[in-house]
Amino acid sequence: MTERKRILITGAAGFLGSHLCDRFIRDGYHVIAMDNLITGRLKNIEHLFHLEQFEFYNHDVSKFIHVPGKLDYILHFASPASPIDYLKIPIQTLKVGSLGVHNCLGLAKAKGARVLIASTSEVYGDPNVHPQNEDYWGNVNPVGPRGVYDEAKRFQEAITMAYHNFHGVETRIVRIFNTYGPRMRLNDGRVLPAFIGQALRGEDLTVFGDGSQTRSFCYVDDLIEGIVRLLNSDYTYPVNVGNPDEITIADFAEEIIKLTGTDQKVIYKELPVDDPKQRRPDIARAIELLGWEPKVHRSEGLKITYDYFRSLSQDELMQTDHYNFDKYIIR
Ligand code: UDP
Repeated sequence: MTERKRILITGAAGFLGSHLCDRFIRDGYHVIAMDNLITGRLKNIEHLFHLEQFEFYNHDVSKFIHVPGKLDYILHFASPASPIDYLKIPIQTLKVGSLGVHNCLGLAKAKGARVLIASTSEVYGDPNVHPQNEDYWGNVNPVGPRGVYDEAKRFQEAITMAYHNFHGVETRIVRIFNTYGPRMRLNDGRVLPAFIGQALRGEDLTVFGDGSQTRSFCYVDDLIEGIVRLLNSDYTYPVNVGNPDEITIADFAEEIIKLTGTDQKVIYKELPVDDPKQRRPDIARAIELLGWEPKVHRSEGLKITYDYFRSLSQDELMQTDHYNFDKYIIR
């Protein structure tokens, strides 16, 4: 029997991290999961705890990481990922994207591991090019409320390329566009859990601005497949992974109203500062290099996600403490 490949996943208790844990366990890897549980939740990975090929470290990746034994791969997915999270914990957001990635790259160098880092469509900021391809350098406000996330992720890409070019570390960079699915935090403030949570609690749906801004939503299983393919490819420059099926936020609210059958209405609130007006990935590179394209239609993915949120307890449903929209809109 061949020895299992060993993979470290940071942010393992988060939305994407936990789905990555499931995927790599299923594919026969030994998974070393790491999370400091600031925004991640043990509930997302507790079904894996009984497995011998799964271990969990409650550790902040911004501090020195020690992992005994050999390591074949590192996936750096630790980071707050919702705009209201960056406002609540801006320093941690900056640290995990800078000190955290530095530790991951240092560990990769020491172990001879291949490292894949989670970057984001936020590196394009409020884009002047549409759709966004990987050659676009972006339009980011470094001192705005989103700057702590956007600039940390841009730094993360730069240091990753430097470790590749200077130290010869095998690196991969995925630019992730809006993704949704089971295990998103209902109260993380992002638009999909916000709308579904509001519908389930019998509240009106809050559309920010006039709702003409667009996003393109990718179902989590599609995203995970794209990440696995990128990890196994030999391409070191950034690759967009997302679903180009673009929709305005106003139309999205209508979709959620239909899906949930709520008789609540849409109410309009002020648009947060630096909220990107349009976002859609150009995925030509992923198609060509990885043979990857999203497969799950939004109607199907939304239904699965709605069923997940519906299965939550009343307590979880009522935990709305975290999303304070007034704080989100800063001038
Ligand atoms: N949004 C909204 N109502 C909400 C939450 C978000 O209209 O209750 C909008 C937000 O202003 C943005 C879009 O939905 O234009 C997506 O926001 P999200 O926080 O999900 O992620 P982003 O893509 O901005 O990082």
